[in-house]
Amino acid sequence: MQANMRQLVSLLSKTNFNTFRASSALYCRHYSSQHEADVVVVGSGPGGYVAAIKAAQMGLNTVCIEKGDTLGGTCLNVGCIPSKALLNNSHYYHMAHSGDLASRGIEVGEVKLDLEKLMGQKSNAVKSLTGGIAQLFKKNKVTHLNGWGTITGPNTVQAKMADGSVETVNTKYMIVATGSEVTPFPGIEIDEETIVSSTGALSLKEVPKRMVVIGAGVIGLELGSVWSRLGSEVIAVEFLNSIGGAGIDGEVSKSFQKILTKQGLKFKLGTKVTGASRTGSGSITVSVESVKDGAKEDLECDVLLVCVGRRPYTDCLGLENVGIALDDRGRIPVNAQLQTIVPNIHAIGDVIHGPMLAHKAEDEGIICVEGILGGHVHLDYNCVPSVVYTHPEVAWVGKTEEDLKKEGVEYKIGKFPYMANSRAKTNNETDGFVKVLADKATDRILGTHMIGPGAGELINESVLAMEYGASAEDVARVCHAHPTCAEALREANLAAYIGKPINF
Ligand SMILES: Cc1cc2nc3c(=O)[nH]c(=O)nc-3n(C[C@H](O)[C@H](O)[C@H](O)COP(=O)(O)OP(=O)(O)OC[C@H]3O[C@@H](n4cnc5c(N)ncnc54)[C@H](O)[C@@H]3O)c2cc1C
Repeated sequence: MQANMRQLVSLLSKTNFNTFRASSALYCRHYSSQHEADVVVVGSGPGGYVAAIKAAQMGLNTVCIEKGDTLGGTCLNVGCIPSKALLNNSHYYHMAHSGDLASRGIEVGEVKLDLEKLMGQKSNAVKSLTGGIAQLFKKNKVTHLNGWGTITGPNTVQAKMADGSVETVNTKYMIVATGSEVTPFPGIEIDEETIVSSTGALSLKEVPKRMVVIGAGVIGLELGSVWSRLGSEVIAVEFLNSIGGAGIDGEVSKSFQKILTKQGLKFKLGTKVTGASRTGSGSITVSVESVKDGAKEDLECDVLLVCVGRRPYTDCLGLENVGIALDDRGRIPVNAQLQTIVPNIHAIGDVIHGPMLAHKAEDEGIICVEGILGGHVHLDYNCVPSVVYTHPEVAWVGKTEEDLKKEGVEYKIGKFPYMANSRAKTNNETDGFVKVLADKATDRILGTHMIGPGAGELINESVLAMEYGASAEDVARVCHAHPTCAEALREANLAAYIGKPINF
């Protein structure tokens, strides 16, 4: 039986890998099969799936191993996509419920929330986008193995499939894109029902009356906003004295906090959580302590959302089999070409250094493949934008004022408030401003920070400008359509360049 099986394997693995998988499963569920590849990508998040498609488009025989049931990783399944669906729809609900629509002359009668339907729309978006990657894999002839990838040598990866069988892939190159996982909070056990991580917070079955969020970083603020808009009383507890996490400009952070407070979110800054316990009635008591004076307080809530960050994920990946050691933050060390110490093994995305962002992972996926093919590998991490998809949105790219002060760089500031922007005024969405930081001597743009309508789209104009080394004058001289919020960006550049915007 074994000998026959080997003949069958040898025959089929030379023809069609997927046909083989189906056939082998029929004959022997635990039989190990072999596959030859140019590139194996482990993980199919935005880093991995983009790298796999790019590699296949460049003519490389590509296999992507993904342990999850669907493709797309954190971003598509439990990250960017579902959170943005909930942010969008909770915003519509809030507009109708809070009287915003009525203030525009749109009477909608009784506004009711159908949470199941709202969650359904989110799930449909996820399903359609993860399914879309499967289609793209087919179209580009990427072989998808639904199994757990373990590196067994510099040129071999094994995929343990759900049915217990093992597929071995011999490969010239590997790209590790295994992403990240939720960082646990010591002493607080997550059950994803009442004590939840971001994953559980994307699928609550009912709107909690009271929610405490540990961490006022990007994800905590986005998900806190969702549930606040849907009716929860939300308190965000943050160790630092400001909100928005790493990289946000101090002035923007202050304005952001004011706007969210006006929307009903409460903040306890400079405060650390010391523990959480369930009460007899099913609620949760969260014990907190002021960082400054040690004053203690208990906060009661129905759902506790733990959002203290994410950490690189390398469980059972087999890095030890090829001598790759993690750095002090659990990341895979790579050089500028995204190579590990084993030159044909590369790593990209959340599992390496840099901001944990989907678009950063995607860009690394592309340049990593180009590097494998002998191309030039370059990613300017200073030009990777960040967006908080609250309402209004917050977005930034490049240096903050705090960075520039620390680095001793002389800079000019150009600011323009949305209050003076015709489109924002027309739409009655005037909270926020655009702030441009430019080099004092050369006028080159060093950073752009904005809080206001559509900031998440508008920031891309600044990224483009910075990538091409534009000056504030360059952007200020570019014709911008009227009336658009992008005119606020132009005016802020004008203010940075010459000190005088036109409309303010
Ligand atoms: C709630 C939330 C909201 C977010 N919103 C945004 C946003 O709006 N914009 C943004 O840019 N970023 C956002 N992020 C961050 C973004 O999701 C990540 O930066 C991005 O997904 C990282 O991509 P990646 O490819 O490195 O890893 P991941 O997306 O984490 O994918 C890694 C994949 O590898 C698989 N894997 C791991 N180990 C193995 C193995 N041994 N074998 C096989 N498969 C394996 C995992 O199952 C997973 O599918 C958000 C994250 C969260 C949690």
